[in-house]
Amino acid sequence: MEQNKIYQNVPLRDFNSWRVGGLAENFLICSDKEKLAELLRAKKIPQPITFIGLGSNTLFRDGGYHGTIIMLHKGISEVKEEPPDLIYAEAGLSCSKLSKFAAKSGYKNCAFFAGIPGTVGGALAMNAGCYGFETWNFVKQVLTIDMDGHQHIRQKEEFEINYRYVEPKNKKEFFLAAWLEFEKGNKEVSEQEIKSLLFTRKESQPLNWPTGGSTFRNPENHYAAKLIEECQLKGYQIGGARVSEKHANFIINTGDASADDIERLIIHIQSEVYKSKNIHLETEVKIIGNKLNDH
Ligand SMILES: Cc1cc2nc3c(=O)[nH]c(=O)nc-3n(C[C@H](O)[C@H](O)[C@H](O)COP(=O)(O)OP(=O)(O)OC[C@H]3O[C@@H](n4cnc5c(N)ncnc54)[C@H](O)[C@@H]3O)c2cc1C
Repeated sequence: MEQNKIYQNVPLRDFNSWRVGGLAENFLICSDKEKLAELLRAKKIPQPITFIGLGSNTLFRDGGYHGTIIMLHKGISEVKEEPPDLIYAEAGLSCSKLSKFAAKSGYKNCAFFAGIPGTVGGALAMNAGCYGFETWNFVKQVLTIDMDGHQHIRQKEEFEINYRYVEPKNKKEFFLAAWLEFEKGNKEVSEQEIKSLLFTRKESQPLNWPTGGSTFRNPENHYAAKLIEECQLKGYQIGGARVSEKHANFIINTGDASADDIERLIIHIQSEVYKSKNIHLETEVKIIGNKLNDH
């Protein structure tokens, strides 16, 4: 697919880790911040617009998306050190590459990024994290772009940040890059941490199936996976969507799942957990687009 060109009717199943979803009316992979700014300024991109990274936290519905999906992965994805001690990473860079770059450059506490199969943009939007670390713990400032194509440098204080939650205090903008601050450490230690983290994840998560990762946010003082398991839902299946036996907060696509199968399974889990525990599970995954029978 050529970059910086708007394509019509693009199958979204090729751009998310569940491998489901309908067509994007318009789809654009952007490789150049200035080109993107120009297209936005000229109002050449049909609205509404959604930015995505690797679609590892997104459920695209079967009826597709009216508007434009803009993907930054592999396009806007530079990473470099900015002396004395900052890393500049663009939104389309994968978190795994960021982690490896930071480790190789001798920074510490960067290993957790290796376990997040998304982009820096997605991690900024989600405040992605694991093993006690979250993306925004390390953000100094970000580069954003607004709907009129203007770029802004925003400080951390300009966002409300919480567990898997990030909202700008003012108007909505999209992330183009971040300046991250890691403490200096030891290259070999950080590289070893990445190796052992990847091993632990392989042991505990169904990584050989198409999945959207943790489906639900952990409610305060609870683990979503434990609640789901206690409701005997491991292995429960609707159509081609199944609650993983390995990790109950993961829903896997067993081969021919539709987005609707996954969404119906999500609703079923929420209803069973509520009935038995009186706790409402909120989705962590973002559900985007129209159902097949929507008009
Ligand atoms: C196997 C597996 C394991 C996972 N483990 C973890 C984990 O340990 N911890 C964790 O936090 N998550 C985890 N996830 C979820 C997911 O990887 C993260 O949420 C990740 O940060 C999403 O990045 P992405 O690029 O794929 O985002 P996408 O799914 O493409 O997008 C996610 C959201 O971010 C928005 N977005 C994306 N890019 C931008 C941008 N440039 N500007 C503004 N908004 C944007 C999208 O519109 C959407 O709302 C896991 C997922 C899988 C499949």
